[in-house]
Amino acid sequence: MLIRNKFKSVRYSIPDMRKSSFLKSSVVAAAMCSAVAAMAGDAKYIFYFIGDGMGAGHAMATESYMRDIRKADMPLMLTFPVTGLVSTYSASSPVTDSAAAGTALSTGSKTRNSMLGMAADTTEVYSIARALKQDGYGIGIVTNVAPDDATPGAFYAHVPERHMYYEIGCQAAASGYEFIAGSNWRGLRGKDGKPTDLPERFASAGYVTVRGTAGLDTVTSGKIVMLCTDSIASDLGYTIDRKDPQATTLVDMTRACLAQMQRVSPDKFFMMVEGGNIDWAGHANDAATIIKEVAHFNDALALAYEFYEKHPDETLIVVTADHETGGMGLGTTFTGYNMRLDLIDHQKKSKDIFNQEIEAMIKSRRIYTFDDIKEKLTEDFGMYTAIPVNEEQDGKLREAFNQTFVDRNSGKRTVTYYKSYSPFVMETFRILGDHYGIGFTTGEHTGCFVPLYAVGVGAQSFTGFYDNTQVPVKILNQAER
Ligand SMILES: [Zn+2]
Repeated sequence: MLIRNKFKSVRYSIPDMRKSSFLKSSVVAAAMCSAVAAMAGDAKYIFYFIGDGMGAGHAMATESYMRDIRKADMPLMLTFPVTGLVSTYSASSPVTDSAAAGTALSTGSKTRNSMLGMAADTTEVYSIARALKQDGYGIGIVTNVAPDDATPGAFYAHVPERHMYYEIGCQAAASGYEFIAGSNWRGLRGKDGKPTDLPERFASAGYVTVRGTAGLDTVTSGKIVMLCTDSIASDLGYTIDRKDPQATTLVDMTRACLAQMQRVSPDKFFMMVEGGNIDWAGHANDAATIIKEVAHFNDALALAYEFYEKHPDETLIVVTADHETGGMGLGTTFTGYNMRLDLIDHQKKSKDIFNQEIEAMIKSRRIYTFDDIKEKLTEDFGMYTAIPVNEEQDGKLREAFNQTFVDRNSGKRTVTYYKSYSPFVMETFRILGDHYGIGFTTGEHTGCFVPLYAVGVGAQSFTGFYDNTQVPVKILNQAER
């Protein structure tokens, strides 16, 4: 009864944010969770890793792949001594979006889906990054998607609508944070298509913008914005699609951020690192891409862990997700009590790249036969060779091929938050998922709780089941303030 009441009070008490300060929400949230007493704050170095959309299925599939197929160590986060479970619902829905979830994880305040850095009543609420900056921490924000996307945006922006990219960019420029990294700012052009003053805003605020790792050495002072080398890319690309070993990755950006923190604020700093592509691959229901993305996120985490090993009494690492994406489940009716994750290594590209290629083929003048496409399926995924497509699956593929190629998109397209897929692409990945032994319930987010993993000073306060609004409160309680 007691537990249920406690949960109820969390669920229905959206903090009164009229005073619009983090302190206020901290007090409310801390009162909600009196069972977790605040420990003395000794964490001088705080790493907050957010795997966007990284639920239990994403983590366990990666563990299973590492153990069974790669014969490698399990993902680092799963070795951390403390784990927790975090509820993710927003003020407007049991299924949160990244804006409301990012706001909860950064400010400790529930808000409505699509709102960023504002409570449900549109009062501005402030992130722990801002609070820690006031306490003298150096601040770094890193993502492998756009730096004005919801998760990074929640650490500097206050907007009623997450797509207000120009405003988010302006607020990032005004944040004073020492390092911000991501693909590209989307507010560089206004709605009229004309260039905005965003570059001038960053420059006059003392930021040097570099593209890729090449320009980093030349920056010896000031704050850094690190973007990718491709000036129009919406993200850094999926790990599974990486052909150029020189291409900038989440690991490169995390390393650059850590170097900047040690240079400008060696006594104490806070870094938020987002694996944003895990969510995108989740929306796509693309198991192989998810697993390789989580593994790459884990490589970025390894940099923080190396640092922790040198400063174990002063470092806190917290890894969690803003929500689960895809309803990713391990085990399908097709595989029964089994999975075949060895088969994912035959997948040479993400569903999104495959989708682009299929779209280009549909639009081209060439008439494709099913045999042409079959060859492509073998080449790209090992289908019909390593993956034995049975008669029923072959029939479904041919039917989807006819809808997509012969009758020119006569079948219903599947539209998710980011992409639109033809029946042929959907059928190909349904069959791949069946063989891998991984299924999905949705092309969007789910309302499931997400795991949290912690190591270092104050990590013990992260054990148990609690709401996402309490995560930043717990982190702040461990900080040296
Ligand atoms: Zn998200």
